[in-house]
Amino acid sequence: MAPLTPHWDQPSHPDIQEVIINPHEFSSKSLSKISLPPFGLYAKLEFPPCTLAASPSYATVQCGRDAHLDLNSDLLYINHSCEPSLIFDTANMNVRAGPNGLSPGEELTFFYPSTEWSMAQPFDCLCGAPSCRGRIAGAKDMSEAQLAGLWLNGHILELLEEREREREGNDLRDMGTRNKEPAPENGTSSSSTLTAGGGLTEIPPPEDLTAQALRNALAHAEKVVEAASAALQSYLASAAEAAALSTSTDGRGERGPAGAGTVAALASGLTRRGITSRELSGEMGGDTIAVSGS
Ligand SMILES: [Zn+2]
Repeated sequence: MAPLTPHWDQPSHPDIQEVIINPHEFSSKSLSKISLPPFGLYAKLEFPPCTLAASPSYATVQCGRDAHLDLNSDLLYINHSCEPSLIFDTANMNVRAGPNGLSPGEELTFFYPSTEWSMAQPFDCLCGAPSCRGRIAGAKDMSEAQLAGLWLNGHILELLEEREREREGNDLRDMGTRNKEPAPENGTSSSSTLTAGGGLTEIPPPEDLTAQALRNALAHAEKVVEAASAALQSYLASAAEAAALSTSTDGRGERGPAGAGTVAALASGLTRRGITSRELSGEMGGDTIAVSGS
C-alpha cells in the first residue's frame, strides 16, 4: 500500500508514528511511538491534509457509501492486519486504538475491510494472525463469520445489510419455485404453532425479510456497542482510579486535571445512557427517537 513517491512533507506524524520502509521488498510498516488505552484517540483525520476522492485507490480509505478519502500523509503506511491495533472510524474522522489499547513499538495496523467495501487492489494477507482471513478484497466478498468480532464502519454495516436482504430475496424466490405442492392435510389454512403457554401463535410470514435483516443488523450493532461500552467503562474506571491516586498522593487534594468525580460521573452516566436496542430499532425503522429528559 506504499505510494511510490510521497507528495507530502515527511514525517507527517513525527510524534506518534515511526515509518519503516523496506525498499528491497517494496514493503513498509509503521510503529507506534505512544501508548494508548483501549479506544484512545490516536490521530484525527482532517481536511487538509485529507481530500475527497471520487473512487477507491491504494491511497484512499472509504468514508461513506460512495465517498473516499485521500490520506495525503504517513497514515498511508499503516498496513492491514486481521488482528489490528487501530480502528479507522471514518464517520467521525478518528483513528483510535483497538480494544487492546496501544503500546510504543507496536505495529500500527487496521482491518481494511472495516472501511473498504470493494478494494481497488485486493491482496493475499500475510499478517500471520491465527484468525487471518486470507484474501482481502473488501467487506463485499467476506462472509458474516469472516467479519465477526471486528469493528466495522457504519457504511460497511449498511452495505452488508443490503447484501443480506438481497440474498434473502433470492432465497425466497428459489423457495417460491420449489414449494409448489399443496399445504399438508389436517392443517389449518394459515400455519400456527403451540407455545409453551398453550396459546396459538402465528408463525410470521416468511416474506418479512426486511424485519429479519434489521434484526440481524441490530444484533450485530448491539455486540459492537457492548464491546465499545465495556472498553470505555473499564478505561474510565481506571482513569478515575489514577485521578484519585494522583489527588491523594498530591497531598493538596485540589482539583486534578479531569477530576476523579467527573470521570466517575461520566462512567456512571455511560451505563444509564448506553444505546438501547429500542432506540436502535427505532432509528432503523425511521421513527423519531424521543430523547429522554437529559
Ligand atoms: Zn491476515
